[in-house]
Amino acid sequence: MDHAPFARWLTWCQDAYRSCAYPVHVPAEQPLLGEETKEDMIARQRVEQWKEDLLRTSPMVRFMVKQLTMLRCDPVSPRENEGKLGKDTLPPKLLIASCPPDIAGGFSPSAPGRPPSEAGVLLCANRIYSKSHLEDTLAHEMIHWWDHCRFQVDWNNLRHHACSEIRAASLSGDCRWMREVNRRHFAFSKQHQECAKRRAILSVRANPACKDDETATRVVEEVWESCFYDTRPFDEIY
Ligand SMILES: [Zn+2]
Repeated sequence: MDHAPFARWLTWCQDAYRSCAYPVHVPAEQPLLGEETKEDMIARQRVEQWKEDLLRTSPMVRFMVKQLTMLRCDPVSPRENEGKLGKDTLPPKLLIASCPPDIAGGFSPSAPGRPPSEAGVLLCANRIYSKSHLEDTLAHEMIHWWDHCRFQVDWNNLRHHACSEIRAASLSGDCRWMREVNRRHFAFSKQHQECAKRRAILSVRANPACKDDETATRVVEEVWESCFYDTRPFDEIY
């Protein structure tokens, strides 16, 4: 094994879209090829096993799979042609691979004009530390995916991007430890809101279309009210 799956994924999402996987930052001169080290392989296999477990047992992950499937964006069943090499072959829907140091993973939208089901998620095995970390990451990316399939999201439009990041941070487990402080009222807890806001700003900041910190903060503030309280597909914050 080598880093070829990651390299293919990168080529694919750069072709498909002018920049890859928000909030992933892909440096121009990153060495992508090389042997998968034993450590990388162990990390990948561990994350693959966690993924299988979560698809069976996590209420959050199972709920999102069901909601995505209802939008004809099934995130799990293999693509046609999966595994076959070819110029037009898409990477797996949930690609688990070791990534260069400053890449954590992320969501890759389908190319404009292509079916939203062609989107995909990259999970960087060497950056995922526990099963619950994977659960939160999957939930976060699946909320982006749901937005992508449900709405006409223009990921170059910072307001669109900010909206999805607010929802992904708030509705996934990203801000969970804040919620546990007061489970009954977490939807209104200040800490939960601050956590979601801070994370959304960081993600928007990583969008190449965002020129500085002030812009990221301003855009998140502008769409905050309409996006934070939009908890679809959840009836309330999970
Ligand atoms: Zn995100």
